Amino acid sequence: MKNISELRWDPLLGEWVLVSNLRTFRPWLPSTACPFCPGSPETGQGWKALILKNKFPMLSEEPPSPSRHVFYKTDLAEGACFVVVETPEHSLDDLSDLPINHITYVLELIKDKAIEASTRSYAKYFLWFRNKGVEIGVSLTHPHSQIYVTPFIPVKIEREIDNSRRYYERVGKCIHCEIISQELMEWVRVIYKDEGWVAFTPFYARWPFEVHIYPLRHVSLLTELNRSDLAGLSKALKTVLCGLKNVFKKKPMPYVFVLHQSPLNEALPYYHLHVEIYGMGMDEDKLKHAAGMELGGGNFTYDSTPELNALTLRKTVGECLKE
Ligand code: ZN
Ligand code: ZN
Ligand code: FE
Repeated sequence: MKNISELRWDPLLGEWVLVSNLRTFRPWLPSTACPFCPGSPETGQGWKALILKNKFPMLSEEPPSPSRHVFYKTDLAEGACFVVVETPEHSLDDLSDLPINHITYVLELIKDKAIEASTRSYAKYFLWFRNKGVEIGVSLTHPHSQIYVTPFIPVKIEREIDNSRRYYERVGKCIHCEIISQELMEWVRVIYKDEGWVAFTPFYARWPFEVHIYPLRHVSLLTELNRSDLAGLSKALKTVLCGLKNVFKKKPMPYVFVLHQSPLNEALPYYHLHVEIYGMGMDEDKLKHAAGMELGGGNFTYDSTPELNALTLRKTVGECLKE
């Protein structure tokens, strides 16, 4: 079989699709040794957290030449994919189970990777994300997250940046700073706040328990956050994820989170760094799926109100803060 790893352009939606057949050979819930545990060939001993090269990357620094097509556009799958092994402890359930200073250490490793990525000529964007829950197809349960360094700006972020720039040109302000003020004034969707950070369920939430975490001060890149900013983000992340985990009695909520920031080396006055968390559980046994309207039409449906779910989250987050 031919080894294919390339970008394919969707001329209708105007966006890239990452195509690779390397991942066909990815291990699925291996019953044998965990590749992320201390002492494995990849990890070795004596570490608190590690960033490893993904063994089955969608993007790499030496990608094969893309196939040539007479009609369709392709490009090099040039980039890098990393796995962030967040702790040596295999059976820890979630990032929120780690102490704040440990999470801060993980964030510092990620920031160092972002600094390194900024020096690569192919690198346009640095996307850090975390998938949690076997229900949503997480193949390795050892606590980890991932980084994609991409040669293009991911389409959702590009769209956010475009709209943020238009608002800035019209009103002269960062729309995210405006959203933060609005949320603080109304308070009904705020679920966490301290001197540096705020977390709220957006007015326009798509997922049942969606939360966005923002620094109160205008910052657009991860690399602009200092140690105390990162400690603040750790506390906010830990607290919100702990709250999410306790929404349902039976089992922790599956989620995806992603860091949205400016493109590498482009601190924008109109784009404001934030973490988007998509809590996907509707109730104890039901997951929200992107289905007909969402996948087919592109618009989400929300079976409650963000204000109501914010109330639930504010309660469980409050209990986490008491611990
Ligand atoms: Zn493990
Ligand atoms: Zn801002
Ligand atoms: Fe965003």
